[in-house]
Amino acid sequence: METIRQRIIACLSKGPMNSIDISQEIGIMEKEVFDHIAHIAQSAQRQGKRFVIHPSKCLKCGYVFEDRKRLTRPGRCPKCKGTYVQRPEYEIC
Ligand SMILES: [Zn+2]
Repeated sequence: METIRQRIIACLSKGPMNSIDISQEIGIMEKEVFDHIAHIAQSAQRQGKRFVIHPSKCLKCGYVFEDRKRLTRPGRCPKCKGTYVQRPEYEIC
């Protein structure tokens, strides 16, 4: 488990990635990624690093989910009701 998290941390330290990128890079299921990310977000603070979420964006109208703190992708855009919503990206800096 620790090894997977360390690998994810290494990836996110290089630049922003979304849950699909991470699942493919590490070779785990996308749903597992969220569990690891939640722990990484907490431990990053203790290590003096900053865990950043680049918010989801609606690809239809461009609405940005600025205030959303959840790690998963929003199901639907509140502005245009479209469902083509980009996944949030995570980064460690
Ligand atoms: Zn929209």
